[in-house]
Amino acid sequence: MSAVTLKTTGAKMPLTGFGAWKVSKETCADTIYNAIKSGYRLIDGAQDYANEKECGEGVRRAIKEGIIKREDIFITSKLWNTFHAKEHVEPMLKKTLEDWGLEYIDLFLIHFPLAQKYVDPSVRYPPTNVNDVEKGVAEYQNTPISETWAALEACVDKGLTKHIGISNFNAGLIRDLLTYARIRPSVLQIEHHPYLTQPKLIDFVKSQGIAITAYSTFGPQSFIEMDHPAVKNQPLVLEHDVVTGIAKKHGKTPGQVVLRWATQRGINVIPKSNNQSRLEQNLQNESFDLTEDEIKQISNLNINLRFNDPADWNPSVPIF
Ligand code: NAD
Repeated sequence: MSAVTLKTTGAKMPLTGFGAWKVSKETCADTIYNAIKSGYRLIDGAQDYANEKECGEGVRRAIKEGIIKREDIFITSKLWNTFHAKEHVEPMLKKTLEDWGLEYIDLFLIHFPLAQKYVDPSVRYPPTNVNDVEKGVAEYQNTPISETWAALEACVDKGLTKHIGISNFNAGLIRDLLTYARIRPSVLQIEHHPYLTQPKLIDFVKSQGIAITAYSTFGPQSFIEMDHPAVKNQPLVLEHDVVTGIAKKHGKTPGQVVLRWATQRGINVIPKSNNQSRLEQNLQNESFDLTEDEIKQISNLNINLRFNDPADWNPSVPIF
């Protein structure tokens, strides 16, 4: 399996990983274990996904059975918005480590460039779920990203995480962060699919030596179950004629074509699936190559359609 070399440390990050968002607590440990058994070597989790204990159970089972050693797998987690203050960053990373049952993780990202009011984990954890947002419970606090970043750098110094990075940041915020970062971000994780390609952001980030991870690579597919209003306004990416035509030509599935469109450009992908055969199929996206023209045809499907946007939350913050 191919990997991206992270410029900050020279460590390898697998190009294709497994995303854990919306994997239910009940099935999560088995799903993660099966993903590892099927060959996945990167798991993308987050405090907000409410399943880090179960993800850890799956990983530890695979280690216990000798399928992998700890150093064979790349674990990502994300600091939730309510833990941006300097006094919360390290304790909350330690909570994440305790949940996974691991001594370190490989990558810890700031999930969103939004500092929300602290919620004590003994009161509610994870602190934000869809209902809270719908009820308008989310409140913001004045913590600058520079404070959060310095606290994350201290976590790297202590060996709690090997790398730190950012998610859902725009180029202006990244430029600002780079003016004071003692440890540069290794990775930017962004929504990236044929309906939201963001080529200028990607060029800028690559020019800074920061690796890019694409999330929701299948575009609307992940948002059907959330009843996202924008899903119905255009064909599903995986059913679009351009994608299905290219898939047919290569004898591959539409999912593999869309993933390959990203991985062939050196962008990490972290597709999520609860279905064993799709999970395997997604991992095998690197088994063929698209032509330059096919990559262009897929990129030309861009309509700047974003599905994961805090502008839709309550209270709304239009960060993009
Ligand atoms: P995704 O693009 O991986 O799509 C998942 C959906 O596609 C699921 O409904 C699944 O059943 C379906 N699917 C999976 N494989 C398929 C296939 N081969 N054919 C047809 N359908 C298939 O979307 P996602 O889960 O939103 O994103 C992937 C991961 O990215 C998440 O699990 C999470 O780890 C991460 N993520 C991060 C953020 C962030 O803010 N940083 C936001 C969203 C997701």
